[in-house]
Amino acid sequence: MTVTQDSPARTDFVALARKLAGRFAGRAAEHDRAGDFPHDNIAELVSSGYTAMTVPREHGGGGAGLEELCRAQEALAAGCASTAFAVNMHVHGIAMIAGIGGPAAERAYRAIVEDGAVIAGGFSEPGVGGNWWHPTTKAQPVKGGYLLNGRKGFFTGFPAADLLFLSAARTDDRGLPEPVGFLVPRPERGVRVTAEWDAAGMRATGSHSLLLEDLFVADAHMVGQPGTLPLMFMQGVHWAWCSFASVFLGIARGALETVVREQRSRTLHVLDRTVAHLPGVQFRVAEMRTRLAAAEAHLYQAVRADHDAAIVTDPLGHYIEMSVMKNSVCRLAHEVVTLAMQVQGGSALMSAHPLQRAYRDVVAGLLVPPNSDVTAEWAGKHALGVPVFAEPRWEG
Ligand SMILES: Cc1cc2nc3c(=O)[nH]c(=O)nc-3n(C[C@H](O)[C@H](O)[C@H](O)COP(=O)(O)OP(=O)(O)OC[C@H]3O[C@@H](n4cnc5c(N)ncnc54)[C@H](O)[C@@H]3O)c2cc1C
Repeated sequence: MTVTQDSPARTDFVALARKLAGRFAGRAAEHDRAGDFPHDNIAELVSSGYTAMTVPREHGGGGAGLEELCRAQEALAAGCASTAFAVNMHVHGIAMIAGIGGPAAERAYRAIVEDGAVIAGGFSEPGVGGNWWHPTTKAQPVKGGYLLNGRKGFFTGFPAADLLFLSAARTDDRGLPEPVGFLVPRPERGVRVTAEWDAAGMRATGSHSLLLEDLFVADAHMVGQPGTLPLMFMQGVHWAWCSFASVFLGIARGALETVVREQRSRTLHVLDRTVAHLPGVQFRVAEMRTRLAAAEAHLYQAVRADHDAAIVTDPLGHYIEMSVMKNSVCRLAHEVVTLAMQVQGGSALMSAHPLQRAYRDVVAGLLVPPNSDVTAEWAGKHALGVPVFAEPRWEG
């Protein structure tokens, strides 16, 4: 590449992720054991420019496209899944916000590029679960903005967050709830941690539960227009679901590499060769590679799809395609890690072994959005020509 003043050399974010993943892997076991937040890793992601990856070039960021983002996140997750998942809320979140544009997006670019700000997003709520388009958090209009009251669960990355991407519902002219998105600088008052994250998997993601109490949010911090949040999300969904899938694919790839490396040199007393010579080990490793290849093909086919055209011709179909892909990739990733456990045997369960952490982390892929039952329902109805949003849901 010719480097001129107008086109400074840009960072290769996949190479950067590989380099950082090596270092993060060395700290992953301790962060997992302690269940603390990897502030050290996030600080390196900020100082290396990784967190500016998806900020547009014209706003001083890396301008990474979806494939570069996914390849980088996949590499990072193989080193420390919790760190990759925590920063995923930031790197895909800013890409979605960039798609909406406006003053809130421009303020976020500046905060990320100039001050190293990090975004975390809270859409899930107790009693709402993954049905994020029905927030129960209330946005009450007041002079100059809104007062937000409600609860948020699973707020990944909260310990390092400088900007909170929040959903809430205000009441429209007909008295109906209208979902609204806000991108708010972390406030001094109005947000309280009610339960620290203490979970079996993704232990170092700081996915705390929060209470929003009379949190004042200025009008200027609204993202897009009231009521358009679900549509905005659908239009940028490829950033969300492809990047989610890439994290869980990375965990599975890391598990395969670990298991292959160990079986090449491992011997058992009853064998005169390495464990790699056992047919069961060979077949399972072959099966892992097959499932990994299927997951990779599905993910990168979705990454390279013509999203702009799909959004115009069939936005719901686009959302469903991306959702089906994310669920399939995460299911395959879970199967790959389960096979890795079987290949390794009982030692895989030992706390000191990286596979048990991968096993606990990869399960989260089955639980994070999009909800697999809702996806199956929408995909089946869409394919069969049954109205997807007809009520009651099982008629129409
Ligand atoms: C590690 C981790 C990190 C997360 N980080 C974040 C984050 O940063 N921000 C955020 O907003 N959220 C986050 N989440 C939460 C996530 O978005 C989901 O809201 C949460 O996991 C609950 O979703 P669920 O659908 O699995 O369960 P629930 O919504 O509690 O559902 C319970 C059961 O009901 C079923 N179900 C629910 N709704 C329907 C429906 N409409 N139709 C049919 N069946 C249904 C589900 O399949 C499930 O079997 C995180 C979750 C995890 C596990």
